[in-house]
Amino acid sequence: MSENKDFLRTIVEEDLKKGKYKKIVTRFPPEPNGFPHIGHAKSICINFGIARDYQGHCNLRMDDTNPTTEDTKYVEALKDAVQWLGFDWGKDVYFTSDYFPKIYDYAVELIKMGKAYVDSITEEEIREYRGTVIQAGKRSKYAQRTIEENLELFEKMKNGEFKDGEHVLRAKIDMSAANMKMRDPLLYRIRHAHHFRTGDEWNIYPMYDFAHCLSDYIEGVSHSICTLEFENNRDIYDWVLDTLSLELPRPYQHEFARLGINYTVMSKRKLLELVNEKKVSGWDDPRMPTIAGYKRRGYTPESILNFCDQIGIAKANSMVDVAQLEFCIRDDLNKKVPRVMCVLDPLKVTIENYEGSEEIDAPYYPHDVPKEGSRKIPFSKELYIERDDFMENPPKDYFRLTPTQAVRLRHGYIITCKEVIKDDSGNIIEIKAEYHPNSKSGSDTSGIKVKSAIQWLSAKEAKVVEVRLYDRLFKDEAPEGLEDINPDSLIVIKDALIEPAVILEKPDERFQFERQGYFYADPIDYTDEKPVFNKIVGLKDSWAKKTKTEKIVQKIESKVEVKKAQVVGTEVAMSEEQKALFERYTNELELNTEVSNILARDEKLSLFFEEALTKLNSPISIANIIVTEVARELKESSELKFNAKQISELVKLIDEGTISSKIAKQVFEEMSKSGENPTQIVQDKGLVQISDPAKILPIIDDVIEKNPDNVAKFKAGNTKLLGFFVGQVLKATGVKANPKVVNELVEQKLK
Ligand code: ATP
Ligand code: MG
Repeated sequence: MSENKDFLRTIVEEDLKKGKYKKIVTRFPPEPNGFPHIGHAKSICINFGIARDYQGHCNLRMDDTNPTTEDTKYVEALKDAVQWLGFDWGKDVYFTSDYFPKIYDYAVELIKMGKAYVDSITEEEIREYRGTVIQAGKRSKYAQRTIEENLELFEKMKNGEFKDGEHVLRAKIDMSAANMKMRDPLLYRIRHAHHFRTGDEWNIYPMYDFAHCLSDYIEGVSHSICTLEFENNRDIYDWVLDTLSLELPRPYQHEFARLGINYTVMSKRKLLELVNEKKVSGWDDPRMPTIAGYKRRGYTPESILNFCDQIGIAKANSMVDVAQLEFCIRDDLNKKVPRVMCVLDPLKVTIENYEGSEEIDAPYYPHDVPKEGSRKIPFSKELYIERDDFMENPPKDYFRLTPTQAVRLRHGYIITCKEVIKDDSGNIIEIKAEYHPNSKSGSDTSGIKVKSAIQWLSAKEAKVVEVRLYDRLFKDEAPEGLEDINPDSLIVIKDALIEPAVILEKPDERFQFERQGYFYADPIDYTDEKPVFNKIVGLKDSWAKKTKTEKIVQKIESKVEVKKAQVVGTEVAMSEEQKALFERYTNELELNTEVSNILARDEKLSLFFEEALTKLNSPISIANIIVTEVARELKESSELKFNAKQISELVKLIDEGTISSKIAKQVFEEMSKSGENPTQIVQDKGLVQISDPAKILPIIDDVIEKNPDNVAKFKAGNTKLLGFFVGQVLKATGVKANPKVVNELVEQKLK
């Protein structure tokens, strides 16, 4: 059990302590209308997990009350998911449809109690009569029907004597209930449809609100745990059980927050659309957030259980970053799976000073994994390396093979490039290299320094495999629809190469392909003739590679682009220097992103800003005045009359409360005309802000005396008039009074 008890387990423990139940019984009650997704995994973990932790039992129940959307293939998928996650529902899977006769009897009982009636108004009228949140509903005239009449009609509904929609059975509760769900909820509807289990036996089907609580009761469930959207249904749940006097051990409903994950969609309806529109290969496409999808992709059950444990159980809905799920699988596999070499995009390397062949013994697991096992890697004159691992004109930080930089072949020798062979169009097609015989990994006496080790394969023995590189299905964090699908979510490489041992020895189904990521032998398409591997996840979070700053810059750039595209074309991306400035402004100086963006992109402004900062450490105020006033002035005149030091001085006057920011604008105007120092301007013009209450109070008294009507209104509760009084006082002082002080004094006076 997790160390921190969640609120559901707290409830369960209290109920046990009080002796409310002898045994804890939970249930996982999916509707078999689609494959379960990772959200269901959370529900499975909660329900089966609680049952396990308290020596209880969890039922697997198919909530099959909607004949038109349900199917046995979904039942199988649900069973498979629960089993794969390692949970056991016992002997039988339960079906709500098995309780149809009992549920029918309960409905008859309610009718006999006068607590349910057959209604015959249209669907539209039902909606209309229900009222609104602020308006009570109104009861249908059919609610007057006698018990006998209701019994007869209900039986005829059951016998198929009416058409779909002609009648419904409703609970007689309260058409003006604050909880709209309680306004005579529907219990049964007519549906002439073939049910995948009961066939054509039933012409009426119970609604969720009626079937669910009764199924829970029939099964002896103690804790009926569901997601938050059912919070308002809880009243009906209790009403049904209470009205039918179904007593303890009766179930109670408890709600928790649904799991949402970014970069994907999570409702079965939307997932079905992806399948139907053939955007994916099926429910078990490795890009789907379905349990079948994760399973086929190569996720382990442990990683999913771990994930569910990590995200915890809460009462408020939230979105979980898919990176957290990816972390869980990476974390799990890192310690478990063998590491081998695979080359996705081969480049031929001929070792000119090597003849014959040899086998290099290499461990499957690195030192820090408590597992053992090794394989032989053939080495020969003709090798393949990853095309990316050679560069003719490398950038500064390139640590792999170049014409002047040696590299180590992982587990093997160091090689040096001797010649680069190209085809007619200038593409590199082969590297002629030399190996250093005394540089073998583990017994290296060559003294040659290399900066990295790369994967490689002996050409003759390497096996061809298909590799399917999967990425997130949606490019958007909160996808709206099919148009947000990531076009690169699947890239198929038909002729990747892999070490022979992977195919011949099959040391595992999952592997780390060194430097590439984690991969899984596709459980369906893999054959010995054509091995297929699915990429489970990369070695690190490639989506998080971009720094926070880069992401913000990108966001602003795309926003600016949209704005500017309509007027002057697109704004260019920031240079490295500008990005560095932007980072300093947002992170270090805590300027907002818009201000930082303007400053970072304009060299004149940023120089001006940096200089002003050396005189006064008040970055936010200085930046604000520079991106507004100074920027405008720069645009309008070719030369500035004032300098950075004077701007600092002006800001200091504001910061210290000598002048208000409104007066500062006036001072600035003067500065840009005359180039005079701000302190001087303030003195000459008598602009010093008045903060002395002794000077302000008489003015307030005066304003109050002149406006008796507004004073009366204010005292009667019209507090909006505070602004009026403050305004009048400021006006009377020539806007020189300190607004903050005025505000406080006026409030005191009028109290
Ligand atoms: P969807 O809206 O995705 O189709 P659903 O709620 O209709 O899902 P059901 O088959 O009725 O799916 O759900 C079975 C159980 O799984 C319910 O108890 C439901 O509350 C729970 N469940 C469904 N989606 C989630 C989720 N995203 N997070 C947690 N629990 C979920
Ligand atoms: Mg549903």
